Amino acid sequence: MRLILTLPFLAAPALASFRDFGIPASSATVDVKAFNVASFTLNNLTHVFVKPVLPGQETITLPIFAFLLEHKPTKRRFMFDLGIRNDPENLPPTFAGLFKSKTITLGKFKDITQLLVDGGIALKSIKAIFWSHGHFDHIGDMKKWPKKRKIVVSSQTDTSIFPDNKNSDFQASDFAGHKLIKADFSRSNLTISGMRALDQFGDGSFYLLDAPGHFGGHVIGLARTTPTSFIILGADTLHHAGALRPGGAFQANIPCPGELVESARSAISTDFFWSPRTGPGRFDIASRTEPLLALSDTPDSFFVDPTAAQLSVSKLAALDADKDFLTLVTHDGSITSALPTFPASLADWQKQGLKEKLAWLFLDGKNPSFLFQPKGRAKREAHTHHPNEDVSKEDD
Ligand SMILES: [Zn+2]
Repeated sequence: MRLILTLPFLAAPALASFRDFGIPASSATVDVKAFNVASFTLNNLTHVFVKPVLPGQETITLPIFAFLLEHKPTKRRFMFDLGIRNDPENLPPTFAGLFKSKTITLGKFKDITQLLVDGGIALKSIKAIFWSHGHFDHIGDMKKWPKKRKIVVSSQTDTSIFPDNKNSDFQASDFAGHKLIKADFSRSNLTISGMRALDQFGDGSFYLLDAPGHFGGHVIGLARTTPTSFIILGADTLHHAGALRPGGAFQANIPCPGELVESARSAISTDFFWSPRTGPGRFDIASRTEPLLALSDTPDSFFVDPTAAQLSVSKLAALDADKDFLTLVTHDGSITSALPTFPASLADWQKQGLKEKLAWLFLDGKNPSFLFQPKGRAKREAHTHHPNEDVSKEDD
């Protein structure tokens, strides 16, 4: 007779079901296709997103993703964010100035309307557009769209326009001829991973989640891609995967690949990062149980409420640590070259092993978004002395 031993310490970590996060069961799904609309470089601005910022890492280049979604039961199409317009000089002056002064640099690119049309998607087939929040790199240029689009924003979004509101990203042309719909979370009695949720189509295929902190009315999209798996459109809850991973549950469920564990030992500077089994000059990622980066809380931080933003990150991280949820944030530079984009569908991301492929890329020293080692300066020659040297002796 064979003895079957159950060794609790070897048992796989318990995987939560979507129900444990408060998501009702449903078989209605949406298809998700990603566009990388543009990349912009924010000069000397890494510190407005994350901390710590290591020497030589002060400037950051970020992609701007936008998402085409198709509601499978009705074939209706909608967008989650639109990316940035390709004539930033026509933004309200405060924001146009960022490009004029080269604080932000942006090359030439086709905007989302051109990308869709070139891809054979008629703009008039897209009835509704969700804006995660009212920043210029998410709202596109609505005057290029056929009239009567439904624009959905959180009711907490300040929709006042420039010049009435000098700080607004919005102009009259962003709304003219369209229908503005305000998603009101105060009417919601559904909570998903601690975030107030609104079921947008009434069938559990797509939710908006209230995720405050980055900007007034900031929301996350939660797309059900199969009855039991989901894509989180994390928008600007955070801007670098290192501000999300690796929490302890994430480590247990999606372990760091062995070769990355090895390369991270020397790639990650132990002058700035630590974990229980780290030693000087030898970082141990496997024993790290919190994200490597924190959100910026400098006076010029891109988070209007860093404390609320950090809480939103924690709620998102609980979903992100689960194998049934793939997180895509708008500006995750670590996945720029690895994320399959339009016309590829992301609906079978789980079958493709996409989560395992993408989740740890931010930790690869060769990834352009790697932020964990000082860069661009010759390593300062350390002043060393022989271990037995008598340092009390004065120099000659
Ligand atoms: Zn953004």
